Amino acid sequence: MEENYLMNTYGRFNVTFEKGIGTKLYDTEGNEYLDFVSGIAVNCLGHCHPSITKAIEDQSNKLIHISNYYYNTTHTALSKKIIENSNHNSVFFCNSGTEAVEAAIKLARKYGYLNGGKSTILYMENSFHGRSLGALSVTGQEKYQEAFKPLLGGVKKIIFNDLQSLKENFTEDVCGVIIEPIQGEGGIINADINYLKELKSLCEQNNALLIFDEIQCGVGRLGTLFAYEKFGVIPDIITLAKGLGGGFPIGAIVANEKASSAFVPGDHGTTFGGNPLACAVSLAVLNELIDGNIISSIDEKSNYFFEKLEKLKSKFPVIKSIKGMGFLVGVEVDYDAKEVITKCFNKKLLLVNAGPKVIRFLPPLNVSTEDLDKSLEIFSSVMEEICQ
Ligand SMILES: *Cc1c(COP(=O)(O)O)cnc(C)c1O
Repeated sequence: MEENYLMNTYGRFNVTFEKGIGTKLYDTEGNEYLDFVSGIAVNCLGHCHPSITKAIEDQSNKLIHISNYYYNTTHTALSKKIIENSNHNSVFFCNSGTEAVEAAIKLARKYGYLNGGKSTILYMENSFHGRSLGALSVTGQEKYQEAFKPLLGGVKKIIFNDLQSLKENFTEDVCGVIIEPIQGEGGIINADINYLKELKSLCEQNNALLIFDEIQCGVGRLGTLFAYEKFGVIPDIITLAKGLGGGFPIGAIVANEKASSAFVPGDHGTTFGGNPLACAVSLAVLNELIDGNIISSIDEKSNYFFEKLEKLKSKFPVIKSIKGMGFLVGVEVDYDAKEVITKCFNKKLLLVNAGPKVIRFLPPLNVSTEDLDKSLEIFSSVMEEICQ
């Protein structure tokens, strides 16, 4: 490892990467790794996909940044692509997931302000929504919140997938509810479809906005462009980031008319958000995912992968359950997840945990069956080692 001056915010592996192509990463010593972390569900087309590098090259020769006081050809084209494929009517672009969550919270607050002065936001136990003080305030995990209190007021934590907790806390003052359709960092836990349906109808009855945080589970990862399509419940606001730029930083909120009409000029803004370079890359990513039939191929590949994982589960008692959907996959083990991940790392397979007992597989969405098999082979050999 080179001498460096990086702030101590991550426990890093002792490896320095310098290039990548597709599912493969190469360190400074020339070792090849199979990357099933994908920058944490970001590199949805793998590393350095030609559509992405071409979009960066072409757009950087045309226009990189202008102010949001003007229209640019790429933010309009990207907004059109997103809206054509959603049940919503407008998009706000920003630079990250956390910023998308901030925008969603502010939009819900503004909606509440206009509708009787309501301000309470309900959020879920065990959720993850980001690191800024606003997003952290609706992140239902004490380990992230504890050292940074006092946090945002007017927010209330409820129990995930628990109708009684929802009903008890759905007071007249609630202007919005934020939920991940599948909790990512919290351990790959799916929301129940019936819970989401009830949540949606309570939001409608009480004139509150339903926010789906699809930063990790959206942009094709579940086998549909938006995660909500898999659950049959349409939220008022969706937050996106991670896969949206395929590795280039961009985030967004997508909202219906009811929600988005609350914002007027001056309410919210960003200097970089929606800049031409980021939007050109994101448009190239969506074109590839949607029109290149990558999203439509996920169900089949994912079924194959889940079936193989289920086989490993019946072979190795240390595997407790296989969780998730599409290519947001969690393997729950009766073992320290980080130790399993280190053993996989030593065999040149990159994986990431989701909580202390769940190992996450986040391959790029265009992953080949051969690479899926290779990851299973390495993972299986680690399971064997552990079960000895
Ligand atoms: C990663 C993540 C975020 C935060 O996104 P950043 O780009 O890291 O700010 C928010 N919500 C969910 C569900 C995430 O997975």
